[in-house]
Amino acid sequence: MSGPVRAEDVTDRADGAHPAPPVLELVESSEAQVGRLTVRRALPRRARRTVGPWCFVDHMGPASISPERGADVAPHPHIGLQTVTWLISGEILHRDSLGTEQVIRPGQLNVMTAGNGVSHSEEGTGAYTGELQGFQLWAAQPEATRHGDNAFEHHADLPVVDLGEGQATVLVGSVGGDASPARHDTGQLGLDLDLRAGVSTVALDPAHEHALVLAEGAASVDDQLITPGNLAYLGKGRDHIDLRAEGPVRAVLVGGEPFESPIMMWWNFVARTREELEQAHRDWMAADERYGTVASLLPRTEVDGPFWTRS
Ligand code: MN
Repeated sequence: MSGPVRAEDVTDRADGAHPAPPVLELVESSEAQVGRLTVRRALPRRARRTVGPWCFVDHMGPASISPERGADVAPHPHIGLQTVTWLISGEILHRDSLGTEQVIRPGQLNVMTAGNGVSHSEEGTGAYTGELQGFQLWAAQPEATRHGDNAFEHHADLPVVDLGEGQATVLVGSVGGDASPARHDTGQLGLDLDLRAGVSTVALDPAHEHALVLAEGAASVDDQLITPGNLAYLGKGRDHIDLRAEGPVRAVLVGGEPFESPIMMWWNFVARTREELEQAHRDWMAADERYGTVASLLPRTEVDGPFWTRS
C-alpha cells in the first residue's frame, strides 16, 4: 500500500513516551483512500506514531473487488521500511522492482524490504470477484539495515498457536517456541488473532510495547472494550494479555522493542531527516535507478514534494 501519511501525524518532533502498564490508550484511526480501497489507518497518528518498529498500520476493506475493479495501487517507491501484507479475504498481485510477481491470498504473508530504495505496485489478479480485506503494516528499519539492499519474501506456511478460545498466526517474530520464518530487523512481533467468544490468553515479551487493532468483532482487555477503527496501545511490561471476545473477533497484535531512534515519515518514505526525505522524492521524480522499475501497466505515481518545501 501507499501513503499519503497526513501531515499532522508525521511531524519531526520526537516520538511519544513509551509508558509501562497498566496503560491502555485507545487512539481512533483515520480513514484514508489508497487506490480504490478505503482504509482505516491506525498508525501513524499524532497521539501514537510507533509501536516498536511498527510505524504504519492500515486495515483495508472489506471492499468488493472484481477483475475490472481491484486494489489498483500504482507503482510507487519506499525507503527505510518493510511492508508486511496479510489478507483476511481476497487476493492481490504484488509486483516490484526486484522483478517479483507474486499473488498473495489469505493465510500468506508478503514481506518487502525497501532498504535504500524499492518500488512496487499492488494490483488485482484479473481473476477474483468477491471481498477484499486485510492489513498492511510497515516496520521502520534500524540504522544497521536501512541503507542496505532491497528484498522480497513470500511465506505460505506460518506457525499457528492455540490460545484457548481461538488461535494466533505468527506473522513476524515468535510466541513461545513458535517463530515465523519472516525476516525482521529488530525485536518485533506481528500476530493475526482469530478468536471465538470467551477469553484467550496471548503470551507477550514484557520488554516489548504492544498494540491491538481489530478488523471484526469486539473484545475487552482490562475491562476496556476495543472495536474496529481504533488502535489499543497496551504499553510495555505485560507478560501476557487476556482478551475477552464478545463473539468472533479478527485482529492483529503488533509489538516490539521501543524503536532505537525517532523516525521521520513522509509519503512512502521512512527516514531520519527532512533532507533524506527530500532526496528520496527527487530521486523518484527523476526515475533514478535507486528505485528500479516495476513491470506494471499502471502509470507510476507522482506527487509534489514534501509540504515543508512548498510555499
Ligand atoms: Mn507500498
